[in-house]
Amino acid sequence: MRRKIVAGNWKMNGSKDLSEKLVGYVQAEAGSLDNGVEVVIIPPAIYIRDVLKQAEGAVSVGVQNVGQWQSGAYTGEISSEMAKDAGCDYVLVGHSERRQIFGETDELVAEKVALVVASGLTAIVCVGETLEERESGLAESVVSSQVRLGLSAVSSGDWKNIVVAYEPVWAIGTGKTATAEDAQAMHASIRSVLKEMGAPAEEISLLYGGSVKADNAAALFSESDIDGGLIGGASLDAKEFISICRYFPASS
Ligand code: PEP
Repeated sequence: MRRKIVAGNWKMNGSKDLSEKLVGYVQAEAGSLDNGVEVVIIPPAIYIRDVLKQAEGAVSVGVQNVGQWQSGAYTGEISSEMAKDAGCDYVLVGHSERRQIFGETDELVAEKVALVVASGLTAIVCVGETLEERESGLAESVVSSQVRLGLSAVSSGDWKNIVVAYEPVWAIGTGKTATAEDAQAMHASIRSVLKEMGAPAEEISLLYGGSVKADNAAALFSESDIDGGLIGGASLDAKEFISICRYFPASS
């Protein structure tokens, strides 16, 4: 049975006020979700305590990034051990904004994934092709390589702490979404790569991300290899976010 997850990535947005109001609404509504979805909120690290307090255990909390070190003289960084200590369950690793703006490579992603799983947290590892790569017919090979390299350091006992988020770069924050069929095809391809790597592929949750909204969530989430969503912009609107969580079919 795979975990069904809808995770909201606030990116560098939000405030103490949003943490109270949005999480208050989500906390009140999450209890009435009857489709087994785990709701995760991933705020800027500085608001994690506020979100945890407001969530009262009704949602899980994650951090958007960790450094590739355990501790030390790395001003501005936080470690996965600290994320765990603060009460987080999830860590986003290799989001395309980290890859494109901060130059994170697959090798760095692999280092971070190893630290995250070693601290007992679940890594949500983001992969996805650019528009140029898709238009050149390279989407599957790019994503396959990101999966193989980014997860190369995962040992057999740690796959339970891995979630993969397929987020085509051209769909993030653009209002363009992959069709449910294209997203399903890529998810099936990722699952077969995981299988080839010796992972328990049928047990690993694969999320889709890229302009997911209440009006396209149902089609995406009804695909057999799509186990949830990683939501950016729409996760900043409490009602829209909860609507997305509700679109998960109860039977899957
Ligand atoms: C994201 O940031 O991971 C994301 C999918 O953003 P958006 O939903 O805004 O496209």
